[in-house]
Amino acid sequence: MEQITKNVYAETKIRGCNPGIVFTSEGAVFIDTAQWVTKLLEMRNFAMKRGPIKYLINTESHIDHIFGNHWFAGECPAIGHEKLHETFWKIPDSFNMTTYDYSLDIIRRQDPEGLPFMPKAEEYIINPPTITFNNKMIIHLGDHTFKLYYTPGHSDANISVYIPEEKIAFVGDTVFAYCQTWLHTCDPDALFSSLRFLNTLDVDFIVPGHGPVVTKDYLYEQAAVVYEWLQSVGHGMAKGWSREECMDRISFADRCPVDIGQEEVMDYIQRANVGVCYDYLSK
Ligand SMILES: [Zn+2]
Repeated sequence: MEQITKNVYAETKIRGCNPGIVFTSEGAVFIDTAQWVTKLLEMRNFAMKRGPIKYLINTESHIDHIFGNHWFAGECPAIGHEKLHETFWKIPDSFNMTTYDYSLDIIRRQDPEGLPFMPKAEEYIINPPTITFNNKMIIHLGDHTFKLYYTPGHSDANISVYIPEEKIAFVGDTVFAYCQTWLHTCDPDALFSSLRFLNTLDVDFIVPGHGPVVTKDYLYEQAAVVYEWLQSVGHGMAKGWSREECMDRISFADRCPVDIGQEEVMDYIQRANVGVCYDYLSK
């Protein structure tokens, strides 16, 4: 785990999202949960040695951010956006398997040491947030403030967590740093607006949903990546290419890798991103 500021830690080098821990004078707050069970338990033990875990915040509903919620059931309340319930614990239909089996398969292949700690399907507790909000929520805990903002775009349930005392923001999948950007559920207009909003925060560090910790400059890079996707698909449409032809001919696969452990979905991301851009430009 990486220490980013005096009281903030994050794990940026595992498959799945970048889960974090913020230590306050009254206990710890987790932001998202790891997809690898061994890392998740390691993070939990690390936090519990210093005191109680007070809250778990989910920045979105996609499986790579919420899979580990099971291990916080009964421990502390989970918090997230109101719309997150509609898509919680759901994976794309094209994956053709249950969410539990999908998760088990990942652990079996990528985190075999975590397998003994994986509960049976009937014992797995999905544990979605019980405290939800719409636009903004402020949590005061000990000597820290957690400002939760609705930052839609990547999905309609994305939030960002700004901790002014540490000059840091966890922005979830509003930012993919130096790895492939997933647009599969994206509303580009909302995403650009959220990126502009994040630029107004007084932060030294941004913890993206995936990839290394960055500074605010990277927000421009993220916007540029999405504009480039739209531009490429727009050029294809101008040539009369169909949605399918755009998918067959446009790819950003050579730009950067997919985040750790997800190489197998490179083609899925390329086609899904083209589809989203095509539909957006056809509107
Ligand atoms: Zn993610």
